[in-house]
Amino acid sequence: MATVIIIGGGLGGLTAAVTAAARGRQVVVIEKEPQAGGFAVAYRRGGYHFDVALHVVPAGGPGQSFRWLVDELGLEGIRFIRLATGSRVLLGQREFRLPNTVDGFFAALAGAFPGEAKGLQRLRRELLAAGRAYAPLFDPRVRTLSALPRFLPRLPAFLRQSYQSVESYLGRFVADENLAALLYQPAVFLGQPMAEFPAVNYILMAYLLLTEGMYSIAGGGQALTTALVRRLEALGGVVRRGTVSAIRVQRGRAVGVTLADGSTVDGDALVSAINLPTLWRDLLPPETLPGPTREALAALRPSLSVLSLNLGLDCPPQTLGIQDHLTVCFPAGGLDDCMRRQRQGEFAGGFSITAPGLSEPDAAPARRHTLSVVVGTRGAHWNSLSKNDYQLEKERLTQALMGHLETVLPGLTAHVRCQDLATPVTLQRYTGSPDGAIMGFEPQCGRHRELLRAAKSPLPNLHLAGAWTERMGGFLQSMMAGHSAGRRAAS
Ligand SMILES: Cc1cc2nc3c(=O)[nH]c(=O)nc-3n(C[C@H](O)[C@H](O)[C@H](O)COP(=O)(O)OP(=O)(O)OC[C@H]3O[C@@H](n4cnc5c(N)ncnc54)[C@H](O)[C@@H]3O)c2cc1C
Repeated sequence: MATVIIIGGGLGGLTAAVTAAARGRQVVVIEKEPQAGGFAVAYRRGGYHFDVALHVVPAGGPGQSFRWLVDELGLEGIRFIRLATGSRVLLGQREFRLPNTVDGFFAALAGAFPGEAKGLQRLRRELLAAGRAYAPLFDPRVRTLSALPRFLPRLPAFLRQSYQSVESYLGRFVADENLAALLYQPAVFLGQPMAEFPAVNYILMAYLLLTEGMYSIAGGGQALTTALVRRLEALGGVVRRGTVSAIRVQRGRAVGVTLADGSTVDGDALVSAINLPTLWRDLLPPETLPGPTREALAALRPSLSVLSLNLGLDCPPQTLGIQDHLTVCFPAGGLDDCMRRQRQGEFAGGFSITAPGLSEPDAAPARRHTLSVVVGTRGAHWNSLSKNDYQLEKERLTQALMGHLETVLPGLTAHVRCQDLATPVTLQRYTGSPDGAIMGFEPQCGRHRELLRAAKSPLPNLHLAGAWTERMGGFLQSMMAGHSAGRRAAS
């Protein structure tokens, strides 16, 4: 039976593994950490259970793409939970609630900015029409040929919007800076200023999150990892511990991998589900790297990383005034300025707070509630610090962040029983992701061609999966890339 080797056991790699194993292939996943899952794992500290990565995912409802993928993979016990209240956004002194339906979202914005109602109506029409035309191209359930009739008339706009920034795109419809910041919420997790984020990526993300809704998953990202590993094992596949140090290539084909301990594993097809800079730089013989790929890699940069502060509380979040699964805060206002400063490594006061126990009450036994606070930051800054400065910076930031949190959630500090801060250095150590980037390459205006080139495999039987492919990062996107790579590897 043909063997498929999967390098990296994050969500992308595990999805590729299950997909290939379900098509009758013998599959071995090689994962450098003792536990598979990559970012999608949980850990215990001080009696609290913290899920590392899951805050919000799209499309978990019946018939929607994430639900479809989970069913297609045969994963058992995965329960998506639609966020009942949407999200709460604090911009300076103003507070907004953004419902989790497209009608509710636009109605709330028109109510808060009555002078912009006409522009909002036009934007809604345009965004939904563009999303309807673009989204099927990225949906594995839809055949490309049947997506083309709706897409082709919009091709010129699609190309233009890959160069255009969200700031310029939204500026055609609305004038108020705060309103633009609220409209940007579906893409806010990427931590990029609106002036630098491509409109086409925004349209796709906003379309998916607004029309299909925001979900959490019972048990967090760890639940997905556990279900994927169980399914893989039931199909006869294995996860083996080891660090892949090289891909062996003979006569233009990958024939197996060498591990850091010197052992080798032979395979007929390979899926790389680790970050592409490491794949290209360290694992493949240099002569396999085509010139255009080299140029593309030089033009691209890792997406933003995060500081992730996990807090264990002795009270339910409601005691602190938190009613929603997700709160996004820019206490000093000025979202774009804040993001620009944070991506330079400065802490400018922007963060999100997730209270997972509010959407999934069973997950938080009495007095064991948790909050996950996420701040976008540049990993390169953290990597440049000495060991001593790193510790000092961690302490300084935890204090600064707790100070900001206390202004938003008065009384919080007195209820914190456990706290743990992960930096980009932590994230890089566990996943190998350069600068701890959590979403693969950063989407940049006018750089989609480079992205496609970097994510193109030079070998016919080496397939690429995960957050660093052209599908970009996030749970659903990494898994979709894994599904498509697994299918190709098994064919
Ligand atoms: C704090 C935080 C919050 C997030 N919030 C969200 C969210 O709300 N919604 C969302 O959709 N996404 C979110 N994400 C992003 C999401 O978790 C990632 O984009 C996704 O999990 C990436 O999966 P992956 O399989 O591509 O990569 P990874 O998870 O990085 O997996 C790669 C795996 O490869 C292994 N590996 C690397 N090198 C080697 C090697 N040489 N040999 C063997 N194994 C190797 C690593 O150990 C790792 O297990 C968040 C991430 C973080 C950190």
